[in-house]
Amino acid sequence: MRFFFNIIHATVLLTWAATAPVAGSQPPAMGMIQVDLPDRRIEGMPLAWDSNVVHLLGRDGRLWSFAPDEAKDFRQTAARFQPYTVSQIRANLLRELGNDYEVTGTTHYLVAHPRGQRDRWAQRFEDLYRTFVRYFSVRGFTLREPPFPLIGIVCRDRKDFQRYAAGQGVAATDGVLGLYDLISNRIIVYNATAHAADEANWRQNASTVIHEATHQMAFNTGIHSRWSPPPTWVAEGLATLFEAPGFHDAQSSTSQADRINRERLRDYHARIGEKHDGRLPADLTASDRLFQIAPTAAYAEAWALAFYLVETQPRQFARYLALTASHPPFRPYSAQQRVDDFKAVFGDDWRQFDAQFGRFMDQVK
Ligand SMILES: [Zn+2]
Repeated sequence: MRFFFNIIHATVLLTWAATAPVAGSQPPAMGMIQVDLPDRRIEGMPLAWDSNVVHLLGRDGRLWSFAPDEAKDFRQTAARFQPYTVSQIRANLLRELGNDYEVTGTTHYLVAHPRGQRDRWAQRFEDLYRTFVRYFSVRGFTLREPPFPLIGIVCRDRKDFQRYAAGQGVAATDGVLGLYDLISNRIIVYNATAHAADEANWRQNASTVIHEATHQMAFNTGIHSRWSPPPTWVAEGLATLFEAPGFHDAQSSTSQADRINRERLRDYHARIGEKHDGRLPADLTASDRLFQIAPTAAYAEAWALAFYLVETQPRQFARYLALTASHPPFRPYSAQQRVDDFKAVFGDDWRQFDAQFGRFMDQVK
């Protein structure tokens, strides 16, 4: 293991140190290595490491994190990181999922789905992607092309979905129709609406899937950093915004009424309403714990806060998103830093900020 760190240190660390702070850029040009872990061989680019953990970006976009002494052997396989090609990822997906699956590709997506089923998701995701990019581009936010094909897995049914999610270490609780896994960088869904939908209305049945697809797009286009995620309210605020047709189907929906997420608005009025003394946005910015102890209120506040900011000060919100995505990878994003980032863009008077936010939300019906 000593060898591992000496060589890596010499060939890679300096390059990384010189290039790491550029958030939203392509993965920096670094050596690519192959490592043998107890149960598999992996190949990719080291992102960061210390004596306890190595973070390595796999060639398919998966993040591997392992203890240095788990790695038996390594060799440098290329002078530069090379993501897998589309056809390599396609072949790997088929190998992983077996003969019952096939893979449909679009410009940005590779979607594995049960063989013989006409796939709807790849084109749906691609349409969402275009909407998402247009939304941010017209607001002055420069998005990067995803460094990898965006991978979606469409499971055969709910049981398969739960089994697959469990295999990835994620519990798909009741009511969860899809998920985005930050580690594998994949979106996982199942055909809950296969028999119900006429194609034009699929979005109405799929707000959960749109929510998860929004996370995947945001973490792959530089809106968020996968290696230093933003405060949870920021990611969830964005995903819940796009649940509303005025965001995910902006071509045919243009009024503010279409941009309102009705379910979250109901939760907001029921659980937050008059409580605008500055504490809630401050707490939610400093810490994610409200999402554990009171998730409905946390999601409602996250949605309302994001909605208020994109409706009233979209440029500042874009600036805030860029700031939250700019931090060094795999370092703690402290409560103080989170609060400082917010104040740097929106000022340091929480009470006044929250009072204006509350007055705006009073008008939203
Ligand atoms: Zn979410």
